[in-house]
Amino acid sequence: MLRYSVLHIISHMDNSTRLQYLEAMGVDVWIPRKSMPVVFEAIPEVIAITAEVTSETGLFANPHQEWAELETEVASCTKCTLCQTRTQTVFGTGNKTADWMIIGEAPGQHEDEQGKPFVGKAGALLTEMLRAVGLNRDDVFITNILKCRPPGNRDPKPEEAESCSDYLHRQRVLLQPKIILAVGRISAQTLLKTDLPLSKLRGKVHKLDETPLVVVYHPAYLLRSLLEKRKAWQDLQLAVQTVKDIKG
Ligand code: URA
Repeated sequence: MLRYSVLHIISHMDNSTRLQYLEAMGVDVWIPRKSMPVVFEAIPEVIAITAEVTSETGLFANPHQEWAELETEVASCTKCTLCQTRTQTVFGTGNKTADWMIIGEAPGQHEDEQGKPFVGKAGALLTEMLRAVGLNRDDVFITNILKCRPPGNRDPKPEEAESCSDYLHRQRVLLQPKIILAVGRISAQTLLKTDLPLSKLRGKVHKLDETPLVVVYHPAYLLRSLLEKRKAWQDLQLAVQTVKDIKG
């Protein structure tokens, strides 16, 4: 009962009051690079409380642990039938405090074999596209709508995307990116919950919850349609400018 009351009280406080309260409880408080208040528990008794409080409020007591737990959960996922045909899950790679979150469609054969996103030919082009705007793969976090490969590289089924959506949502909440780059039609349509074609979705800044989202052509498509590369370049520039504007 006490546990619930403390959780309840803290979770309804504004950020600064909550931080003062946690400090008074002996809980170390620090402000990271992104100015997101994060609480670190010094007292074992408050670990469970702060873990719950922080997940309710979007603040994380121990982001490393949260990431590790999420990755373990994904690795053993059996929510849909893709678990029967995958070699392994593809959680995502890169910087877990990145400003940029790159979201593709689903792992292909190479990704399924290696357990990493965008490692095939399309991945090499994605790497080049990022490099063109001054980003290394280590500067961004790259993942997919689906964490498992659909057999034969078919499009993800809506129910598969739905089963996986909680994992992607939790990755987004943990990462708190400044920009989301939706790579390709499936990613854009799934994230924005729309049937509009990519040509209508690109070229503008959308919002996913409060996070700006820019749509870009999938590199696999660009490998076949070189004429669209210019548009992809424009979309990347739009994303870069959006991040610059946010940072001021
Ligand atoms: N295409 C994607 O959308 N994601 C990958 O990880 C690889 C290819």
